Amino acid sequence: MDFDFDLFVIGGGSGGVRAARIAASEGGAKVGLAEESRMGGTCVIRGCVPKKLMVYASGFSGMVEDAKAYGWDIDKGNFDWGRFRPRLHSELDRLEGIYRRNLENAGVEIFDCRATLADAHTVKLDGDRTVTAKHIVIATGGRPSVPELPGAELACVSDDMFLMEEMPKSILIVGAGYIGCEFACMMNGLGVETHLTYRGAQILRGFDEEVRGLISESMIDSGIDIHLGCSVMELQQTDDGILAKLTNGKDRVFDRVLYATGRVPNSAGLGLEELGVGIGHRGQIEVDEWCQTAVPSIYAIGDVIDRIALTPVAIREGHALADTLFGDKKHKMEYDNVASAVFTQPEMGSVGMTEEEARRDHSILIYATAFRPMKGAFIERTERVLFKLVVDADTRKILGCHIVAEGAAEMIQMVAIAMKMGVTKEDFDRTCAVHPTMAEEIVTMREPVRRS
Ligand code: NDP
Repeated sequence: MDFDFDLFVIGGGSGGVRAARIAASEGGAKVGLAEESRMGGTCVIRGCVPKKLMVYASGFSGMVEDAKAYGWDIDKGNFDWGRFRPRLHSELDRLEGIYRRNLENAGVEIFDCRATLADAHTVKLDGDRTVTAKHIVIATGGRPSVPELPGAELACVSDDMFLMEEMPKSILIVGAGYIGCEFACMMNGLGVETHLTYRGAQILRGFDEEVRGLISESMIDSGIDIHLGCSVMELQQTDDGILAKLTNGKDRVFDRVLYATGRVPNSAGLGLEELGVGIGHRGQIEVDEWCQTAVPSIYAIGDVIDRIALTPVAIREGHALADTLFGDKKHKMEYDNVASAVFTQPEMGSVGMTEEEARRDHSILIYATAFRPMKGAFIERTERVLFKLVVDADTRKILGCHIVAEGAAEMIQMVAIAMKMGVTKEDFDRTCAVHPTMAEEIVTMREPVRRS
């Protein structure tokens, strides 16, 4: 049977664009891609990229104080969102243009519209138009989800934060995962009175306990008001702002309320269930290790399969799929030892198992050090950094590495390479330090702080 396309991708985010581009440019496939919003998806338009630029912006407030303490004659002014915002958006426009051009240069035909499935090989585009494809990839990503509560419509989500007309004076952030904690640090750094409420006992569930403790203390020390074991019962509009009623009784009015309570896969309304594609209870498309659904011609990658909701994971899933379908190099995404970073202040980088996870199946040794880094100690700053290795006591393999420090995200990338190679504690021990750095501590920890 002749198809219009060898591959049709629904969704122009990181994963979809990579699958389309590699299939067309390296696999020689005829490829179509539909995107109903902006090319680049969550990462480029309303996620990682604008977030990181705002993290940079927010970091300058602390730097001015440090510079002063280091002897600079410098005064901290106010952050002007009105100057930053247009620059941010022109950068996003530029990146969106690059994504589009890369697709075009690879020969991918772009459809700027919503696409749904009519059958296992037919994609319905806006209006009555349909196209056929031998393979179809769903790469529709995810979206923020806000739980039901009275006044939920008054809350905003992370997407809205990049479009704000003006900086709020105060903000309540609900949820203490990646997004909640990153926005709390950003807003606080930009001079906004910031409160964070979390229903559990400690922020950043799933990360190493000591890391969570240190970041939470640093956030509190930097001026963020963290309400633990606390939920929002109701939001009400008042003349002064949004009144948040909290279970801890500390009700108050905020200029903005941001819900960072997780994201859900964009799988609804695509016609998937009708065709027999499995959808899990969180809305995730069910796929096998090759990202193939129960319908053999339909694949899914990225946040819509909800395995690890990170841009580089979606990119690798998309790349592996394109290679597998059109190249002679069949391979699949490896989900072990995927490093990640949380861009809080201080930053956190993490790869492999937490101490708590490792303890379940391994006999372990913990090597850790926490100290005041030279840069801060010089000006009597109290912030500490943490370097921690979780080591298998029998094989001496590094099972996990967790860093809380300025530049932790950059450092953990390097550790992730070593871990992929099966690095042992002895490999760390025989590596000569780079001096004077913070990271040298990771190769100079001689004695375990505990074993279990
Ligand atoms: P997370 O799942 O990380 O965090 C959600 C937070 O909201 C948790 O604290 C959770 O609590 C809380 N929560 C969930 N439901 C409710 C509810 N009904 N009421 C109150 N609180 C609730 O999601 P995020 O939105 O922060 O991020 C989504 C994903 O995006 C991340 O998992 C990550 O994969 C990706 N991401 C990665 C970034 C990076 O790499 N730096 C940055 C931003 C996002 P509890 O812990 O109790 O479940």
